[in-house]
Amino acid sequence: MRFCILGSGSSGNSALLQTAGATVLIDAGLSARRLGQLLAEHAALSLDKIDAIFLTHEHGDHCAGLDGLRKHPHIRLYANEATARAIQAKLKHRPHWVHFETGARFAYRDLEVTSFSVPHDAQEPVGFRFECGDQAVVSLTDLGYAPANVRAQLAEADILVVEANHCAELLKADPKRPWSLKQRISGRHGHLSNAAAAELLAATANPRWRHLFLVHLSRDCNHPEAVATALAPIRAQLPPHCEVTILAPGEASPLLDLSTAHNDDAPSAAAAAAEGHSDSLSPTVEKPSFPFPSPSYS
Ligand SMILES: [Zn+2]
Ligand SMILES: [Zn+2]
Repeated sequence: MRFCILGSGSSGNSALLQTAGATVLIDAGLSARRLGQLLAEHAALSLDKIDAIFLTHEHGDHCAGLDGLRKHPHIRLYANEATARAIQAKLKHRPHWVHFETGARFAYRDLEVTSFSVPHDAQEPVGFRFECGDQAVVSLTDLGYAPANVRAQLAEADILVVEANHCAELLKADPKRPWSLKQRISGRHGHLSNAAAAELLAATANPRWRHLFLVHLSRDCNHPEAVATALAPIRAQLPPHCEVTILAPGEASPLLDLSTAHNDDAPSAAAAAAEGHSDSLSPTVEKPSFPFPSPSYS
């Protein structure tokens, strides 16, 4: 299993998941051109190799690339009916939709896919769990809080992707956003704050976790350092071998290849530190050359 986050945050969310039998994206919130560049750069793949895209919800930062993907009509779009309808209303073409029922588990090639509903300001937003053999990826972004059904999905994951959208203090102090928007972002159908993400991780920590990505950071109201600070008090509750990566807005992760990892031989914290993956939280540095659109609620 190979996995790579191609981008996250308001500038566009998308992740690549590749198994022996399937090459899929989770969301397509970057332009098709940019997705093609990132796939080539990080995974030596082209858009022609993408079989399907699994869509969480209709916000532009998760589906803005779909119009440009009309040149790749072989790509199947998987979404629940409400999300598909909301996205289709914004598209100029009709892609090949495949609907799933939220909460149902279904097979896609060699993947077992489970969607689960999340509280967010969209038609029928979901998170995803993908399993292949004994490996699992859980992707959880765009939610105001984590109810019990969400928490239940987090334990059994080798790779866990969780939103840490904003620092509550930075959001409160932000001069650009009106009060009503701040209320939406921090509300029960908005986004997880750093503190909420830390609480969720501490409450659901599982020895199986090997890679944890904190993503969807707000450009104006968060910073990798602020996420690291929020996670520091709960770091001891995470498995010592779990590598934690905090992705700056717009930043891609390195490509993970779990087929070369040894599940029964988790590296010690000392060994991980020797490899440069210290068990301390090491936020990655923003790349100023990356183009970002102006901030918007997503
Ligand atoms: Zn989003
Ligand atoms: Zn959203």
